[in-house]
Amino acid sequence: MVKYLCSNSEFFNFIFCNRKYMYMKKLLFGVLMLSFLSCNSDNINNQTEESSNNTESLGGSAFKRGCPSEDIRKTALQNSAELRQKYSELEANTEKFTNDLKLGKVLSDGTVEIPVVVNVLYRTSTENISAARIAEQIAVLNADYGGTNTDVSKIPTAFQGVKAGDVKVRFRLANTVRKSTTKTSWSTNDAMKRSSSGGIDATSPANYLNIWVVGNMGQILGYATFPESSGLWNDGVVIAASYFGKTGASAPFNQGRTATHEVGHYLNLRHIWGDANCGNDLVTDTPTQTGPNYGKPSYPLYNTCGGVQRSVMFMNYMDYVDDAAMFMFSAGQKTRMQSVVASSGARSGLRLY
Ligand SMILES: [Zn+2]
Repeated sequence: MVKYLCSNSEFFNFIFCNRKYMYMKKLLFGVLMLSFLSCNSDNINNQTEESSNNTESLGGSAFKRGCPSEDIRKTALQNSAELRQKYSELEANTEKFTNDLKLGKVLSDGTVEIPVVVNVLYRTSTENISAARIAEQIAVLNADYGGTNTDVSKIPTAFQGVKAGDVKVRFRLANTVRKSTTKTSWSTNDAMKRSSSGGIDATSPANYLNIWVVGNMGQILGYATFPESSGLWNDGVVIAASYFGKTGASAPFNQGRTATHEVGHYLNLRHIWGDANCGNDLVTDTPTQTGPNYGKPSYPLYNTCGGVQRSVMFMNYMDYVDDAAMFMFSAGQKTRMQSVVASSGARSGLRLY
């Protein structure tokens, strides 16, 4: 059954569509007596059927439902410039609200909600990852950046004081774009980011985090652009399908942490070892370390840099350990990410007020 539409102006013998119009007594008085049905009732036949076959669809009743709200409104708007102005503002606000829902925004507690577009380039059905798996990946990002991941309890006591907790960044899926391809492998040449090279063009990269999910990239799990690329055609994160989401992903990179790591770069985090022997990651609360760690190290894991020996923070998302072995950002990393999504930051386009 097609639900009756109150806004249909051809049938205006009955009312009660909108109580706001109750005050218009002159117009309503004549029809009040006939108004027994709510416009929201489903117990009404399809409008078209009623029109074409009154006797049958009315079921013996002398009345058919109608609603004059729009006609009354039309007259009222014609007679009042003030109402016309309010009407115009109302519709503009409604449209803005609708659009805002698709974009990022700053929540009441200052958290920046980043809108995400997932671009899926698939050759096989396995590579055409499901909507459920995409939702799973978004959930992992929100848990890891919110500090609500269950393995946060594994953070060693020595690092409890410098954990980021809630980074105050969240992610919301705004759209998924899918495209089939015959390509069997992809490289880091950004071909996946342009339709002219067999990829998918980014959606407004200044305003959306674009994630491209592709098939085989060899030994590369994913890669990302840093904030200086904000808004450029190639801005965003690339992740191989096998390491995106959880269900069906390949162990030991099947907990969705490749995305957590790559989005860290996107928000200006460097690898925790500073991409050099005892390098600098521009964060003071992450111990200097000699290089990347792999697998599932045990704490403490001592490195010596600058003559100082201490355990490194291998469980940081910006190290190279297995998904199950990484579960924290540091407070210093949080500050760097916050500066990027701030209103003055390179990625302020992800915010919407
Ligand atoms: Zn990296």
